[in-house]
Amino acid sequence: MKALVYEGPRKVVVKEMPDARIERPTDVLVKITTTNICGSDLHMYEGRTNMETGRILGHENLGVVTEVGNGVERIKVGDRVCLPFNIGCGFCKNCERGLTGFCLTANPGMAGAAYGFAGMGPYSGGQAEYLRVPFADFNCLVLPPDAEEKENDYVMLSDIFPTGYHATVLAGVEPGDSVVIYGAGPVGLMAALSASIKGASKVMVVDSHPDRLKLAEKMGAIPVDDSDGSSADQILEMTGGEGADRGCECVGYQCSCKGHEVPNLTMNNLIKAVRPTGGIGVVGVFVAEDPKAEDKLAKKGQLALDFGQLWMKGQHIATGQANVKAYNRKLRDLIAAGKASPSQIISHELPLDKAPEGYQHFDERDEGWTKVVLKPAA
Ligand code: NAD
Ligand code: ZN
Repeated sequence: MKALVYEGPRKVVVKEMPDARIERPTDVLVKITTTNICGSDLHMYEGRTNMETGRILGHENLGVVTEVGNGVERIKVGDRVCLPFNIGCGFCKNCERGLTGFCLTANPGMAGAAYGFAGMGPYSGGQAEYLRVPFADFNCLVLPPDAEEKENDYVMLSDIFPTGYHATVLAGVEPGDSVVIYGAGPVGLMAALSASIKGASKVMVVDSHPDRLKLAEKMGAIPVDDSDGSSADQILEMTGGEGADRGCECVGYQCSCKGHEVPNLTMNNLIKAVRPTGGIGVVGVFVAEDPKAEDKLAKKGQLALDFGQLWMKGQHIATGQANVKAYNRKLRDLIAAGKASPSQIISHELPLDKAPEGYQHFDERDEGWTKVVLKPAA
């Protein structure tokens, strides 16, 4: 089958790879019809993780089931399914509690497994013609009859829509809250959509890319341009000096200012911009070590946090990979009911062969390249 393979920093190629196949009775095989490039792929693409070369990337996957293992009960050949990026077993202590981002079975010795992801197990990604799906009865989200028509909406259930929603849950967003979101990438925009769904009274989105800020505004948020580094002051001004009720970090460890990475920037801005006793939800990825960081602390996965401020303000911080399965069913139903259309952030739809081009433009945050979806079956 054809697949997109990581061959080293900023080098991905589409080539023939061994076919994905059923390996265990509980697996299914999915013919991928849509698979997205994610901001998380970019950390790997840039060589800023310990991703092994020769592996297939892609963790935002949707497709049609073509084969089922003989231990699969629920999923049938022909089902159109969206796969959560995290692979859960369904029966460990964490999966039982809905914390499928921290499955204790699928990636032994670690908490959490995913397709085509550094440090999250041996599973191949779905930027390919076919994908093996483990623990399939548990992991597959079966899509409703309008699945084909709304495929570009439903594929966002694999990661960024639930992840944006998770940011608002971690931050504790409730109806009427004012919310500040750092990052107007796909995840930040989905956090903005989720905050609106949860009834936020005011959603403010911070970034420095005009095209992304414009999109945030189109989605009903207040755009906040951080080009001059004044975002936290702007948020304070917009909230009567008090700060936003809730804050979401949707950027991660490669957050930057004027082209230079400043790893503690978004976290310290959030501590400043969120009100005393407010909540901060961090879904942007931070890593345990980052040898290629310029910052000495960041090399060891450490941050110089304004902890005294945080403590004085009595704020809480919650973090981590999104437990996609905890939300994807209800978010699917919002899409089906016409009450959410996450596909509005898609800027480019490309065949798999053009994926390397998509990576390059998305990685450079080129104007207008907000979210790339790939169509391997096209
Ligand atoms: P992205 O890289 O396209 O978006 C990040 C945005 O942040 C960019 O628009 C960039 O301009 C902006 N930014 C950079 N520095 C900033 C700063 N100092 N202040 C404000 N904005 C700043 O990626 P994305 O797909 O939106 O993903 C965002 C993060 O979320 C990544 O770290 C990704 O790995 C992570 N992620 C986490 C999960 C999870 O489960 N927790 C899931 C998906 C993605
Ligand atoms: Zn993703």
